[in-house]
Amino acid sequence: MQTIWSRHLRYTLAGLVVATLVGLYLGYPVYGFAAGLGVYLLWTLNQTRRLAHWLADPYATNEAPQSLGLWGELFEKLHKLNQNHRLSQDRLRARIDRIQESTNAMHDGVVMTNARGAMEWWNGSAEHLLGFRQSTDQGQYIYNLIRTPAFRSYFDAKNYHEPLELPSPAKPHIHLQIQISLFGDDDRLIMAKDVSRLHQLEKMRRDFVGNVSHEMRTPLTVISGYLETLVDNADELPAKWRRAVNTMATQSFRMEALITDLILLSRIEAGEQEINDTTTDVNRLIQQICQDARTLSEEKQHEITFTSTGGHRLKGDEKQLRSAFSNLVFNAVKYTPAQGRVSVSWFSNHEGGYLSVKDTGAGIEEVHIPRLTERFYRADPSRHKDTGGTGLGLAIVKHVLINHDGNLEILSRFGEGSEFICHFPADRLAAGSAEPS
Ligand code: ADP
Repeated sequence: MQTIWSRHLRYTLAGLVVATLVGLYLGYPVYGFAAGLGVYLLWTLNQTRRLAHWLADPYATNEAPQSLGLWGELFEKLHKLNQNHRLSQDRLRARIDRIQESTNAMHDGVVMTNARGAMEWWNGSAEHLLGFRQSTDQGQYIYNLIRTPAFRSYFDAKNYHEPLELPSPAKPHIHLQIQISLFGDDDRLIMAKDVSRLHQLEKMRRDFVGNVSHEMRTPLTVISGYLETLVDNADELPAKWRRAVNTMATQSFRMEALITDLILLSRIEAGEQEINDTTTDVNRLIQQICQDARTLSEEKQHEITFTSTGGHRLKGDEKQLRSAFSNLVFNAVKYTPAQGRVSVSWFSNHEGGYLSVKDTGAGIEEVHIPRLTERFYRADPSRHKDTGGTGLGLAIVKHVLINHDGNLEILSRFGEGSEFICHFPADRLAAGSAEPS
């Protein structure tokens, strides 16, 4: 560029010298110089006009404007820059098209939103599964289109370890699993997977267990009734039958308890009961449960205490909450040796409400803790024979808490005792409850 510029300067000066000499020859050197300058100015102005015209639409022709010297070089360099820019733009567009093509071929819906939830891009499956439309929904907030409150809280919580399941807002027969990933500046990549078939299978399994349990209940009630009569009149039975009848009666009562829990669990899992429109007085409920627990404790003489701070009520179904809380308190009694302590407390802070059941009992080894809420999982299989539990208690607790947007925390040290804490979010709390007496 340096040499072109010096060549340009040389030619321009030479031109001006020639113009001045011609002027000198004609007797007007100053006019000659001025005429030379004028011609140079007009030529430069013309090149500037051509440049402006060309830059207004550089892709209109595939060639640069032709010119001499510095201007010719400038046109050529700009043309090359333009071509390179165009080439990388085409390459980038092809790559984007390919990514869009492949994401469009996916069966899962993919949506990109900014940090506030405004939708920026989504694929064809998202249109099908979630009912979004390119023409109207660009820039809309996603939670205005997926209006389920659970989705809004999931989106805002930024805790995306577990996926969220919900029915499609556009096609209620489609059941979706939503998984969000964060990228960039808190932007969200939202994947929606159609899990209708799995959901259907899960429902069939639940219905099957529910129905079988229901069908078994009547014959079992009859058998238990007769066995109870036999046990009541055991004196009249031959001695060799007494033990058998007693064992049969105990086992049939266990089966009845199991079936009652199975029916309850399948109802809770199906979310049959109404949980959103009622409030539960937790203080009153726990006082009743503690009373029952003292009866259960009997000669084991546990010290069972209840403390409450805040006195909030809980928005939720009392029957379900009673099942969950009583399972925790009765477990504490069952798994705590005589004279042990069981402390129940209900308290709240700005994050939510907490029901804690703490005991000084057997404790649980750390390896078992993550699996305790599975159906029929026992930390110590040999121990349940003494306690007569069904193995479904903590599964019931877990599902009741899911229905109430809560979760269960288990803290335990083997041999020292356990604490089970039910966490409820702040929007599940309602004011007004009597303090425990
Ligand atoms: P179960 O009917 O056997 O009590 P649960 O589902 O209520 O069934 O509890 C599952 C297992 O968790 C129990 O078998 C027991 O091993 C353990 N567990 C529950 N609560 C306690 C507790 N308070 N202390 C020690 N172990 C407990």
